[in-house]
This record gives sequence, C-alpha cells and structure tokens, in this order.
Amino acid sequence: MEKQWNLDKLYPDFDSREFAEDKKNFLSLLKEINSWSVEQEQSPVQLAEKFINKLKKCYFYYSKLVAYSRLTVSVNAEDERAQKEVEKLEKKITELTRSRVRFQKWLSELDDRAKTLYENSALLAEHEFFLEELAAKSQYLLSEEEEELAARLQQTGSSAWSKLHQRLTSTLTVTLKVEGEKKELPLSEVRNMAYDKNADIRKKAYEAEIAAYDKIEKGGAAALNAIKGEVLTMTEKRGYDSPLEKTLKDSRMEEKTLETLIEAIENSLSDFRKYLKKKAEILGHKKGLPFYDLFAPVGEVGLEFEYEEAAEFIVKNIRPLSSEMADFFKKAFSSSWIDALPRANKRGGAFCYPIHPIQESRVMANFTGSFSNMLTLAHELGHAYHGHCLKEESILNTDYPMPLAETASIFSETAVHEAALEEASPEERLVILENHLSGATQIIVDIYSRFIFEKELFAERKEASLSSDELQSLMIQAQKEAYGDVLDEEHLHPYMWLNKSHYYSAGQNYYNFPYAFGFLFGLGVYALKEDNDNFMEKYKSLLKVTGKKKISEVAKQADINPGAGEFWEKSLDKVREDITLFIKLADEYA
Ligand SMILES: [Zn+2]
Repeated sequence: MEKQWNLDKLYPDFDSREFAEDKKNFLSLLKEINSWSVEQEQSPVQLAEKFINKLKKCYFYYSKLVAYSRLTVSVNAEDERAQKEVEKLEKKITELTRSRVRFQKWLSELDDRAKTLYENSALLAEHEFFLEELAAKSQYLLSEEEEELAARLQQTGSSAWSKLHQRLTSTLTVTLKVEGEKKELPLSEVRNMAYDKNADIRKKAYEAEIAAYDKIEKGGAAALNAIKGEVLTMTEKRGYDSPLEKTLKDSRMEEKTLETLIEAIENSLSDFRKYLKKKAEILGHKKGLPFYDLFAPVGEVGLEFEYEEAAEFIVKNIRPLSSEMADFFKKAFSSSWIDALPRANKRGGAFCYPIHPIQESRVMANFTGSFSNMLTLAHELGHAYHGHCLKEESILNTDYPMPLAETASIFSETAVHEAALEEASPEERLVILENHLSGATQIIVDIYSRFIFEKELFAERKEASLSSDELQSLMIQAQKEAYGDVLDEEHLHPYMWLNKSHYYSAGQNYYNFPYAFGFLFGLGVYALKEDNDNFMEKYKSLLKVTGKKKISEVAKQADINPGAGEFWEKSLDKVREDITLFIKLADEYA
C-alpha cells in the first residue's frame, strides 16, 4: 500500500503540456467571463446562461490547477515553484470579481423577474439556490472597482499573512532531548508526542513546543493582527454588524441556531469537567490536569496500528453500515489518495481535499500509529465520501458551508469508534472511550474556548493591535472560562492562537463553532440510523444537497430541526453516557 499520494490524475508535473494547456484554457475563460455585460438584444435567460456556463468551465480548470499546486505545497513547504503557482492562480482568480459583481448587481435588479429564469431554463433551475444567494448577497457588495481592488489587495494582505503563518509553523523546528540526544524535530511530530505513553516525553514535548514558539511568536502575532484587522475593515465597509454576522450568513445559518448550540454546549461543560477530573486523578495530578496530558493515553492496553492495519480496521467496520461506503474507502487506500506519514517540510495535522473536476479526493495525514491517528483517517475519508456524493452535482452546487463540512467526517468517525467499542474488552473499552472523550473535549470544550477567544480578539483588535503577550493572556482567560478549574493553571496553552491555522483565514472567521456544530450534528444524524430502514439513502440525499440549500433545509432531509435545543441535547446525552461509562470503567480498571 502506497503511503504517499499520487497526483498524476491531475498533472504529471508543473512543466507538463497538460498543465500548460489547462492554464491556457483557464485564462481564456477568465477573459470571456470578464467581457460579460448586459447586452440589450439578449434575453435575461440567455445572459444568465452564458455567465453560468462560462463560470462552471472556468472553475473546472481553476480547481484542477490550484488543487495540484496547493497539494504539492502542503507536503513540501520548500517547493518554491508550487508556491509560485498557487500565488499566481489565486491572484488570477480574483480577476473574476469585477464581472461577478456586475452579474450579481444585474441579477438582484431582476427582482420578481428572476423567477422566469428558472421557469425557462433547466440550467438556471439547477442553479436556482446559487443564483438566489448571489442576488441576496449583492446588498453587501461594494462598487465594481472597489471589489476588484479589495480582492487584489487581499493577495498582498491577509492571504500573504496567512501564507507567512503557514510557513512559520511548518518550517519551525523544536529542540528536544530524546534519549540523551538533542534533536531538531518538526512541530507536527512534537505535537504528536502528546499521545505518547511516556509521561515524561509528553511533558518534555510540551515544554519544548512552548519554548520553540519564542522564535515565531512575533511574526505570528503580526500576521494575526493584520488578518483580523483586514476582516474588520471589510466587514464594516460591507455593512455587516460584525464578522460573526458575516460568518453566519456565509454559513447559511440562523443566529438562533448558533445561540441554541452555544447554550447546549454551556450546559454540558460541567459534565466534561467530571471526565477531566477523573482523568487527572487517574494520571496522578493533584493540581488539576495539565494541558499536555489532555491527550494522554489511559489504561494499559496499547491500541497501536500499523498503517495497513488501520486501513483494514476502518474498511471492515464501515461495511455493516454501508458496503458502498466501505468499498469507496478501500479504493481511497488502494489508489494512492492518501499521503499518510509525517516528514520534514510537510504540513501538520490532517485534511481532505475534494477535487471535483477529477471526481476524487486527496487526504493528507500525519499517521504515527495511534488509535486516534486511525480515527483521523476515518474522519478524513468521511470528507472524501461527502465529495463522492457531490460528484454528479454542478461544481457551483458543491460549495457547502462550514457547519455542514464536518457532517460526513464525524459520521464516519463515529461509525468506526462505535464498532471499535463494540468488539472491545472492558480494558480496551476504557482506552477507546478515553480517546473518544478527549476528542469530544477538544470539539466541545476547547472549541468553546476558541470561540470566546476569537470574539474577544475581534473586540480588542477593533481598538488596536495586540502583542503576543496580550494574545497569550486572552487565550489563557478563554481556556479558564471553558475548562473551569479542572485544568492545572500553571500548565495551560498560551500559544494555541499561534498553533491553530483556523485563525489565519480572512475568508473563514470563527472556524471553530462549525466543528462543534458538525460533531453534534454528525452524532445526531448517526443516531437516526437506529429506527430508519432506508437511512443510508436519506443520509446520502442529505449530503447531496449540502451545497445548494440553507442549513435548516438540509437538516430537514433527515427530519432534524437544528433551531431546537432538544436535538443538540440528545447528541450531548450520547457524550454524557460515554462519560458515565468512562468513570465507571476507570474506577474498575485504571
Ligand atoms: Zn474534518
């Protein structure tokens, strides 16, 4: 089984004829779209069809080209050619802005006449949601010239800062003494040591990580201030109340839904603290759990996986749920879709990149053999399955909002987790539950701290830039609020703002609560499989419409109302059950 991904289906290399040809096509389509204008002799249907057709083709080439370039950079931060291509492409695509704004304004002025577009054209009917959303968003648009200028300045502004942050963290090396020998290790590898069985290694890795940030904290703080500053300027200029309002609109989500979700999370904090308290007790900490032991394994049974074993385990456990999904996962493993192992200059963490033009995805992971690494693979493959369900959709109907982005991944992760729990001995159960709960703690409690942090960051950044020290104390404050007094005050993580790339995307602010939404939504959807015969069909149809309906409408496909607290409480009850069971098992076996 190959452990590095293969990108040949995209291009053989940057100098290939194929890459050059697609680039040529992309550029000429861009030109054609930019010449789009309201010609009086053409009907609204003709005008709209022309735009949509060209846009679809243009995105086709762009997605292919930029996927190849970005994926190449993600496994080799030092590849300057790939970096340059990403930069050129991202800059080029901003040229779409002017014609898109022109089209959007024309569309919104059609008002009631827009209906006739959908009645008289199958193509436009297929893109009704896309077009309606464009029209509705035109109220937040600036003039054509301003939009173009803003998009171009973003390339040298927030996008450049975000790349700097990525470069700083992916090339940062951490000095660590391993078995008496001093080593320079990549950040991702050192962060992975948080899962190590050896308590001393976990602690040393944490201390070395914190010390290493000294080298990049000023650059990181500058990047964060610049990005958040740009976001504040732009959202205000566009007429949004706040960046949060923009995120909700972009998420196709009602404010009431977020409030209900946050309330449910706050109700569950005391339950999570029971779990964390127990974990501190098991590990022998008297002053509360230190941050570096949040991921510490509990129990004597080692659940380690070779990469091939992990693949087999995932496929085997998805099969009872859906043989189609299992076959799909199997194909991903056997067709070199996955770049599995950590190496120098490779980005940390894991992600899935769906590539609509080739109807496939690629998954990047930093697999080192832990049970949680295995679940991460199941998670990312869930994303890939989501992409698979969308492959027949128009590329313009595949852009799903952040909160729905985690539905399929959590679903798949939950399925593998439940199966593992089912077949495990009590001792293994303790290990699996611990793993699950430490993950859930991240997604609910830590995410809550990140939400508080980002809200506060925006409020303060509005007045002035924040120093690294100020960012650190903001982070500590947020962590205390979320975790309460069950963490060891002396050992929190003041640099989480530097570590998490989510804060560094101007286009996606508050990329935190969507994880909590996705986790609880995925759990809730998964729970529905119990009393539902054709559940998998319902589930697939839910995934299929994620790019062309509002969240509440998508949820309706599975009879869910995300605006009601009841739905969220039910998902959280599932976690509460796990906490109770964990404590019981811990008393017996830990
Ligand atoms: Zn995910």
